[in-house]
Amino acid sequence: MNLIIKNSDKRFNQLSDIYRRYDFSNLVREIPNNYYYIPPELLLNEFNSRSLIVSFYPINNDNWIYGRMLNRVLKITCELDTQLYFDILFLNINCSDKRPKCKNCGSPLNWSGFIKRGYSNHDYRDFENLFCSARCSTKYIHLHPEIYGLYGYVNPEIHAKTQLSKFLNSGTESGYFYIASTKFKEFKFGICSDIDIRYRMGEVFLNYSKIKVLEIGSKDYIGNLEYLVKKNLGFPKTEFLDWKDNHKFRSSFIKSLIELNQ
Ligand SMILES: [Zn+2]
Repeated sequence: MNLIIKNSDKRFNQLSDIYRRYDFSNLVREIPNNYYYIPPELLLNEFNSRSLIVSFYPINNDNWIYGRMLNRVLKITCELDTQLYFDILFLNINCSDKRPKCKNCGSPLNWSGFIKRGYSNHDYRDFENLFCSARCSTKYIHLHPEIYGLYGYVNPEIHAKTQLSKFLNSGTESGYFYIASTKFKEFKFGICSDIDIRYRMGEVFLNYSKIKVLEIGSKDYIGNLEYLVKKNLGFPKTEFLDWKDNHKFRSSFIKSLIELNQ
């Protein structure tokens, strides 16, 4: 077993304690500005921030670091790189053996180099599609047609059902159905339990530029509304739609509302 942290036992124990206490939800705030939290317990060295716009321990005990500074600050103050930071604070692992592995062959995945991607090629939150190579993903997808459709993506109808049951089993009481315009020529529809958080996450990860709530209701109502919209759209492979399909979305949405309220 290879320990990621090779420093003293004392430090290792401190870090083990940290990964139990922190998770992503309290590591990032003011997401549009992209600040990351460095728990004081991780710090080994002080940091001179004179020439930099960064609020940092021990100056005012506020350890929120601007994303672009993170690499440098982590290295100087914590003797950690972003991969170890991600392992400890995002994945809650303190041992390299526990790093994510290819779903098909089980070999360790490469580090993307970016916190936002983690060990995935596109998004650190994608735990469903982690493969080491195109060869492995092709093989696995071919062997599991019940999960992946003809096109190598997760079958949209099954995906919609999984998403619905996830939402219905979540701790939330109510939800929002929204559409968001993006910085490209498309918009996305979706549901969430907290519209502010969704907007801020969307702005960083999905290029949202504006968000508009179309319906508010109980978790059951909102979850089923989204499922029906997807169904009435013919289970599209993506929740991102071209603006020119706006009318198609609108009629599916209205049809779904009528069906739900009958
Ligand atoms: Zn593989």
